[in-house]
Amino acid sequence: VSTEIPNFQAQLQNLLMLYNDDDTLLNDDTTESEKSLQQLFRINPLFRRIIVVGEDQDISAFYPADVDSVALTEPEQTAVARVLTTSTPDIAPATTREDEQVLSFIVPVLDEDGTPQAALVGRVPRLSIENLIVGLQGTVGKGTGFIVDENGYVIAHPDTVYLLSHWAPPEENVRHIRTVETEPGVAYQSWQGQRDGRELVYYVTEATHPWTVVITVPYEVVLSLALSIGAPLLLVLVLVTAAFYTNLMVLGRDITGPIADLVAASKTMAAGGNWTPSIHDQRDDEIGQLSQAFVQMQQSIKKRLNELSLLLGVSHDVSTVIDLNQGMPAILRGALRGTGAAGARAVVLNPSGGYPLTYGEGPAADAMAILDRPIMTRLRHASELMLATPNQIRAALELDKDIAPPLPSLLAIPLHSHDRFQGILWLGYRQPHSFDLTERNLLRTLASQAAVLVENAHLFATAEGGRRRLAAVLASTSDAVIVTDPTERILLINRSAEKMFDLDASHVSGRPVASVIRVKDLVDALTGPDEIVRNLEIPTGDGKTYYASVSTIISNEGRIYGRVAVLHDITHLKEIDDMKSEFVATVSHDLRSPLTFMRGYTTMLPMIGELNEKQQDYTDKILAGIDQMAQLVDDLLDLGRIEAGVDLAHEEIEIQSLLSDIATEYWQHAHLNGIKLQVEVASEVSTITGDMALIRQAVANLVGNAIKYAPNSGQMTLRAEQANGEVVISVKDNGPGIPQRDQMRLFEKFYRVKQRGTEKVKGSGLGLAIVKSIVERHGGRAWCHSQRGQGATFYISLPLPGNNGNK
Ligand code: ADP
Repeated sequence: VSTEIPNFQAQLQNLLMLYNDDDTLLNDDTTESEKSLQQLFRINPLFRRIIVVGEDQDISAFYPADVDSVALTEPEQTAVARVLTTSTPDIAPATTREDEQVLSFIVPVLDEDGTPQAALVGRVPRLSIENLIVGLQGTVGKGTGFIVDENGYVIAHPDTVYLLSHWAPPEENVRHIRTVETEPGVAYQSWQGQRDGRELVYYVTEATHPWTVVITVPYEVVLSLALSIGAPLLLVLVLVTAAFYTNLMVLGRDITGPIADLVAASKTMAAGGNWTPSIHDQRDDEIGQLSQAFVQMQQSIKKRLNELSLLLGVSHDVSTVIDLNQGMPAILRGALRGTGAAGARAVVLNPSGGYPLTYGEGPAADAMAILDRPIMTRLRHASELMLATPNQIRAALELDKDIAPPLPSLLAIPLHSHDRFQGILWLGYRQPHSFDLTERNLLRTLASQAAVLVENAHLFATAEGGRRRLAAVLASTSDAVIVTDPTERILLINRSAEKMFDLDASHVSGRPVASVIRVKDLVDALTGPDEIVRNLEIPTGDGKTYYASVSTIISNEGRIYGRVAVLHDITHLKEIDDMKSEFVATVSHDLRSPLTFMRGYTTMLPMIGELNEKQQDYTDKILAGIDQMAQLVDDLLDLGRIEAGVDLAHEEIEIQSLLSDIATEYWQHAHLNGIKLQVEVASEVSTITGDMALIRQAVANLVGNAIKYAPNSGQMTLRAEQANGEVVISVKDNGPGIPQRDQMRLFEKFYRVKQRGTEKVKGSGLGLAIVKSIVERHGGRAWCHSQRGQGATFYISLPLPGNNGNK
């Protein structure tokens, strides 16, 4: 229809054009004009009316003249004006005229010069155009076809209601449907439009004419149309699919069969079984190739598995031993199994020193030994030796002419651990041999295992050497050593301790120390709550005396490993001490009376006559000497008296006031020597019973010593604490301290420390002996704790009433 429209237009226009130079139409004589119009009208019955319009838009003639007059519509007037100026034919849009919708075709009427003088208007009724769209109706069942002119007015429609209504393709809200390129129309889905339901709209606007032909079809019609096309297509599709699957099954069985076999084979292999290739391998299509590849893959996996299980076996063997003599042969046997060599050898540095150790496995191993040394020399500076022929061996190892290589080819690898050369591992082959990568990798792995083994053996030898040395030291020392763990169980007990306590180390280790050692003081020292060093004398039943020093074992990181007690036999020193006591007892009395004489006569000298200055000086010196000796004798007598155990008073002693008194007494003396005395008595400290004078003497001795031996050392603390049924009085100074070796003997009679700085200090070496005697007479202990350069602390412990003599 769209293509017919231009024809239709042209036909009507051309008809009018036949008359466009008809002078009669320009005549003033209307009857002439009307005649021509009549002719024209007859030629084409489509025209309803033909009108001649002059230059001034006045109607000069019209036909048929069945009405009195006609008037031009507004669009006709515009079109006429346009035609007169452009002298090209035009069409006036549809309008209602004379109770009909008409469309007017307008052509110019030209004079002799070709200038438009008038216009010929031919009105065509709607019905004529309707003929055009008759063909559109019913093309697709219930669809409607209509024509829209260039101004968007419906000029032809089967339903007259819609005539001259406006129609335009919507700009949005529609879904454009692609149309074929040869038929350049536009199709879209629409909700608006001529019907209430959804419809499909298709319209074509030809470039050659301004009218648009539109067809709208309700959607249900489109669907049923689609279905009528689709149903047969679906049937075809079903048939094709069925055929495809049948084919696939037939072909597939050919492919899936072998693949299922391969799957079964991999499962068998995974389960550790063996698979024999089947008939599919003979095929030379892709399935056959796949099967072949699978066989190859299976073989190489099997090979790798064998290697791995070999390595696993070897590393298991090696990891469980620390002994080279067990580990090396296992490695060499592994190397033989994995490579098919005739002999495997290893030379490793001896972890305990001495000659290198050699190992050999395999039938050719012994004959290969002559190459050990040359290979070892060579490999110190090489990473690997792969010698495939006798000549290569001779050249690489620089063998003498008369030495024949025992085997034609060899592979050798150095053993390194922590960049240290540890030895070599090498294999000999019966045939000239080309070395593949797997063989070399296997040997390298084994070599690294061997290096680890050598390193472990070396570490073990070192550790074992250290342990043995320590054990030997402990075993051969005459001092008894007992070590306990943090749970107070016996960890170690040396031979001397075994002898001393009549024990068997193998039976007692791991048992609680309290159930093993019967000496209460020692057990207390080993299990006490504090970590201080405790020194004590332990008399044993057989008349021996041991000096025990118990200390906590603390690692560098501050961890507590337990305690150690070292017991040193001081029986001999004790005997000497007893002899000293005896000597003192005998001589002290005899010394005292001459001293009294000497003092009396010396003081009488000035009474005889005035002494000159020099004489006075001498007598002063004599008197000082006598005083010193008298002091010594007093000390000796005190000591004798204390040791003899006579005159021991039982008084209540208030510790706080005792210490305060002593501090007051020594305050000035201390101050003059640059020491600040401080007393600290814990609140819980209660009273004790004892000989007040003696205990005062003991504490005073300690304070006096601190002032004597630690002058100008700042603070000195006199402290009392109470714990475990005893009162512990301590005197702490910040002086030079006492060397460890002297601490054990400090409390002996006449023992004096020879130490730089204190050698000028006068003393008898009896002060601490007296302290010890006094304290022991009261059932207590005296000890010292000191580190050189860090001051000294002297302790005396006195049992509380009720605990007398327990310590
Ligand atoms: P002395 O009569 O020599 O003082 P003591 O028995 O009192 O005899 O002391 C023994 C030794 O102990 C002294 O010779 C001294 O070297 C050392 N000594 C005692 N007390 C201290 C101390 N507070 N600081 C350093 N050394 C001391």
